[in-house]
Amino acid sequence: MSPPLAPDATIGILGGGQLGRMLALAAAKLGLKCHVMSPDPQAPAFDVVHRVTRADYSDTEALDRFTGDVDVITYEFENIPAETATFLAARKPVLPNPRILATTQDRLLEKTFVNDLGIPTARFAEVDGPEELKAALEAVGRPGVLKTRRFGYDGKGQVMIRNGVDPQAAWEEIGGQPAILEAFVPFEREVSVIAARNAAGQVECFDVTENEHRDHILKISRVPAAISDEVADAARRMTAVIADAFDYVGVLGVEMFVVADGGGHTLLVNEIAPRVHNSGHWTLDGASVSQFEQHIRAVAGWPLAKPVRLGAIEMTNLIGNEALHFGDWLTVPGASVHLYGKAAVRDGRKMGHVTRIL
Ligand code: AMP
Repeated sequence: MSPPLAPDATIGILGGGQLGRMLALAAAKLGLKCHVMSPDPQAPAFDVVHRVTRADYSDTEALDRFTGDVDVITYEFENIPAETATFLAARKPVLPNPRILATTQDRLLEKTFVNDLGIPTARFAEVDGPEELKAALEAVGRPGVLKTRRFGYDGKGQVMIRNGVDPQAAWEEIGGQPAILEAFVPFEREVSVIAARNAAGQVECFDVTENEHRDHILKISRVPAAISDEVADAARRMTAVIADAFDYVGVLGVEMFVVADGGGHTLLVNEIAPRVHNSGHWTLDGASVSQFEQHIRAVAGWPLAKPVRLGAIEMTNLIGNEALHFGDWLTVPGASVHLYGKAAVRDGRKMGHVTRIL
């Protein structure tokens, strides 16, 4: 375990999107400096830090300079190339440990890992070709959801297979890549748990968040989720088991389906995000400590805060053109507006969010 960082130390952040930006702001609050590396010349995180590296993640000269300038390295997105992670980890501590990415980047490995911990997921089967897809449909049943094993996000790389859908066409629709077929889950609601764990093994979970998606993109998060205390406790326990099993250091988000089951409810884990998560943005204004600060504390080797929620909270993402109307939110009672400083508005692009304490 490395000694805790002093408050003037520098944290390297790979990735310069809004998550990197909000991590850097949280670090600044604690007197820590950040150096952001991103290939995007207009990375939103560049605007809030003093030191930046604009380079591709495969540029070893740039990576070398970056590692020389920082005390510890973390990341804000999960598709870090494995070679980049190996290069960095040989030079400076990288947290969370990049070996976790190999599991969370691959839906088959991720779901197998979760099941091996005794935590349920949707039924699934491995699919490597159209013939296997037919067999998987027999085993898993219809409707099913065919998902690429890697590089899927916001509903990309997945297709629903209902009765009558030709497996060959579905296979082609996802680009004929290694995939899994999941049973379609008739969920009552979708929830997530944002948890922080530090190297000393301290785990702190935020209250369970309920998430509403539109066009496969998170639109609204509400806290507390409309679930019983027992289900909420179970969701937090599952998340802590996952964090412990990874020997995780930092913040992670675990997405789950809540399914009605007789008179009660069952939780099925859908996805693990090895990073701060959009459904945890409410913590910036709605809790005594934010997910971003918890992540920074964890990678700095500091004790985690014990989060206290400040009320019933609703977080709304401003997506694409919606951000042009941010002015409408400025005077809404209890609202706090966050804009990410992205120059170009594009359909489906997360431009900002609003938290409201209700
Ligand atoms: P994912 O990329 O796995 O996070 O899936 C994106 C969204 O698609 C989820 O948030 C759900 O709303 C929906 N979804 C994914 N998998 C399933 C499933 N097996 N059954 C029902 N809905 C699903």
